[in-house]
This record gives sequence, structure tokens and C-alpha cells, in this order.
Amino acid sequence: MQNKLLFGGPCGVENREQIFKIAKFVKSCGTNLLRAGAYKGQVYPIVNGKPEYLGMGDEGVKLLAEVQDKLSMQVACDMQSVRQAKILRDYNIAYPQVGARNCDSLELLREFKKIFNKGRQQALILKRGPSTTIQELLGYAEHLGGSHKVIICERGICSFDRHDYTRYRLDFVGVAEIKCYHPEYRIIIDPSHGSGDRNLVYQLSKAALQLADGLMVEVHNEPDSSPTDSSQTIDFDEFRKIARLYGEI
Ligand code: PEP
Ligand code: MN
Repeated sequence: MQNKLLFGGPCGVENREQIFKIAKFVKSCGTNLLRAGAYKGQVYPIVNGKPEYLGMGDEGVKLLAEVQDKLSMQVACDMQSVRQAKILRDYNIAYPQVGARNCDSLELLREFKKIFNKGRQQALILKRGPSTTIQELLGYAEHLGGSHKVIICERGICSFDRHDYTRYRLDFVGVAEIKCYHPEYRIIIDPSHGSGDRNLVYQLSKAALQLADGLMVEVHNEPDSSPTDSSQTIDFDEFRKIARLYGEI
């Protein structure tokens, strides 16, 4: 398990106190990999009668850069445009992330590759689109720079099941296919977006660790107060349980 990755953190960075509190906690669990979005485009433009929450934006990236510096951590942060990518590059964010909804935006993938190719060894994270086939996913990963430059993230796909229980379905078969036929790629699993249900995250993490190169998990000091994805965000106790699995396998 030593080489397996564990990214933990809130859906989004909200303010200095929140992100430092969560980052310190995640680090205390034995990983220096934090996840947190600064740009939070939502699927629905109006949520509960209010305009969508767009996250802290560039100010959030600054805070994440501060976390990297002060706590010696490495941060994964989503980007949705060339402008945002350049901000992440300028602040040396360790793991710029292409979100599921941009997985097949070929022009963006090519631009991101150009922006991050120069003088930089670290990988980009490519999240699988909910309707992207494994074949297509490998093509998109190639556009972004190939296996040396990309960590793939399985985060659940659309299924015929109704959404009474889960938001998406984690595709363990797809992960097994990549591990078997494309072992050159690192692939991590996101059980938070992959289910949409915090009650399932621990069990899914346990299963995911048997197969994948690591996890990306949403965790918050007050999960119910998270402005985004609160229903799938776990609390500190639950995250510590997941981190302990890394010692066991
Ligand atoms: C995220 O990880 O912050 C995120 C928005 O997830 P996804 O792109 O998988 O929906
Ligand atoms: Mn989220």
C-alpha cells in the first residue's frame, strides 16, 4: 500500500480557516495530498432559488498555494478554462485536475497539455466523464500527455439505475480493464462523486483500494455545512478509518 495515493479534502476551498483545518487533519492521517476545488461550476445554474455557487475562484487558488508552502502538501484542484489553468500553473499547484465534465473537451485538453508541459514533471489528473467509454478515456488521456503525465480518476458513470440510492455508479470493471491492458497508467478512484452518498464511501474505498492506485475522497470538518456535495462528504472520523486501510493492505 505504500505507493498508493490518498487525496483527501473538501469539495471546495471556502476560507482560510476551513482549508487549513482540513489540510492539517488530512496530513495528520499520513498523506500530504489535499484535494479542493477553487472553481466550482455547477450543473444547475439556480440551486434552491439562488444562483449557483462558483467557489472562491483565484483567491481560493492563492490559499491552496499557501497550504502547499506552509504545510508541505501537494494539492489537486480542478480547472475549467485556459485562464484558470494558467493561474494554477503560476501558483505551482501540484495536481491540476480536469473535471469529469471536461473530459472530452479536446481543445481544452490540448491547451492544458501545452500549458503544463513546459518545465514540469508532475502529473495532471483526468477525471472520467460519466458517459465516457474506457476506449475514449484512453484517447483523452493521450491528448493530455499520456501515461507519464496523467493520472486517471474513475468517479462514477451514468447507469440505468434510478438515483434513489446513488448519484453515479463506480465502474470497477473499467478500472480493472485499465490495470490489466494499460498498466502504464496510474488510476485512482473517487468514491465520493462515484456514489454521491457519504454512507457508502468507506465500503467503496475498501473495495477500490484492492484495485486502484489510490483514492480521492471528499472530507470536511463539518460535512453538513459544505456548500457543495455535502451529502457525499465524510467527516474526520470516517476519513481516518479510510486512511488506516493504507496501513493494513
Ligand atoms: C471534483 O472532484 O471537484 C469534481 C467536481 O468532480 P467531478 O469532476 O468528478 O464531478
Ligand atoms: Mn465535489
